[in-house]
Amino acid sequence: MTRYLIVGAGVSGMAAAEAIRRADPRGEITLVSDDPFGFYSRPGLAYYLSGEVTEPALFPPALPTFQKLSARLITARAAALDPDGHRLRLEDGRELPYDRLLLATGSLAVPLPVPGGESIPALKLDNLSDARRILAAARSARSAVVVGGGITALEIVEGLSARGVPVHYLLRGERVWPAVLDEEEARLVEAELRRHGIRLHTNSEVAEVEHRGSRVQAVITRSGQRIPCDLLAVAIGVRPRMELAAAAGLQVERGIRVNLRLQTSRPDIYAAGDVAQIIDPATGASHLNALWGLGRRQGAAAGRNMAGGDEPYPLPPPFNITRLGGLVTTVIGAVGRQRRAGPLAITRGESEAWQDAPESVTIVTGDHGSRTRILVGERQLVGAVVMGDQLLSRPLLDLVGQCVDISAARPELLHPAQAAGAIQRLWEKWKRTHARPQP
Ligand SMILES: Cc1cc2nc3c(=O)[nH]c(=O)nc-3n(C[C@H](O)[C@H](O)[C@H](O)COP(=O)(O)OP(=O)(O)OC[C@H]3O[C@@H](n4cnc5c(N)ncnc54)[C@H](O)[C@@H]3O)c2cc1C
Repeated sequence: MTRYLIVGAGVSGMAAAEAIRRADPRGEITLVSDDPFGFYSRPGLAYYLSGEVTEPALFPPALPTFQKLSARLITARAAALDPDGHRLRLEDGRELPYDRLLLATGSLAVPLPVPGGESIPALKLDNLSDARRILAAARSARSAVVVGGGITALEIVEGLSARGVPVHYLLRGERVWPAVLDEEEARLVEAELRRHGIRLHTNSEVAEVEHRGSRVQAVITRSGQRIPCDLLAVAIGVRPRMELAAAAGLQVERGIRVNLRLQTSRPDIYAAGDVAQIIDPATGASHLNALWGLGRRQGAAAGRNMAGGDEPYPLPPPFNITRLGGLVTTVIGAVGRQRRAGPLAITRGESEAWQDAPESVTIVTGDHGSRTRILVGERQLVGAVVMGDQLLSRPLLDLVGQCVDISAARPELLHPAQAAGAIQRLWEKWKRTHARPQP
């Protein structure tokens, strides 16, 4: 009987457990997680903060459970990995043997880089415990400062604002989410935020945080502005949790390096989800994502391979549908040209691949607060951002994801008034000749 061990019971770990159970009904599956709440929807935390969903709704019945999978959950932190001895040591001293191991340890928020930053009492949003802390602080907060340019920072801003806390939103650059949104898209989001009374401070970096013990009193910006606040929240990027792998001598870079079978440099150890940096042997390109949907697909692929399969991960286009300043927004494929470096390479709900748009022409269509931007390459669409009206998001996901040849329709796609019609026609034609891909 094969012993499967999975570190991390997030979406990747659970998808792997599901796939293993399907392929191997008798195998022993153990998951280790240091999150006391087990498995729940992390993207749902945004709606929990804003009060749109209750805590139980983060655990929908459709999510797989340990019972249904006949899997054992151990709530503990994994402390050390011995790849030669095939053992994992837990912080409490227990040792777990394995035949195949999956590292699905996710990522953690990067702390604010100011002098003494590690000791600043800033809130973050990695998990349900953090969301509870933010809500507890919001109950008595008179003024909040939120720092960070990506989705998580926006979610905290909107959550606090929905709870009636006046919010100052500090952006290091000119606009929100500059790695992904263009100027006009960012302006649409910012206008919505301002409409809800949120005060935006662009080109603003924190130089110092005034605090007495664990109580924040004010933030001082590099330009010398003092913003009094009693709640500080930070979401400037995430860092994959790859300490176990690194200490065990596995190859790591910006994440744990894996091949298309999701195998690390030790073939019986796999990695998936936020922590995995997938290397495409065809191009040498690496893929780091912090996306729920891709985490699920990677976990499932890793699980099938752990249970004896030999299936390359197909590198589907990174995709996210989210809400930015109240605007439903879908991001597909490569849409930006600003690759960030260092520990802030990626924020949650984002793919590094979005920052690498190849040579393409940008076309914008839409009206009345809706906007669709497509990036038109020579023979295929390379990416898209759909804001507001979502009519084109499914067609664009298929056209980008399936690398549909657009050559014949290119002139229309390059015409703002004709592009939407051309997208629909290309999609209808593609659907008539192809099976539906997985979402
Ligand atoms: C607030 C928020 C909003 C988001 N919004 C979106 C969105 O709109 N769209 C989208 O696509 N994605 C979004 N994401 C990102 C998405 O949730 C993640 O990409 C996804 O959860 C990653 O799954 P994972 O399984 O790789 O890691 P995780 O879900 O982070 O799970 C990893 C698990 O491993 C455990 N762990 C780590 N190290 C150890 C250890 N040493 N010992 C024991 N346990 C360990 C952790 O406790 C955790 O439970 C959001 C995330 C957050 C937090």
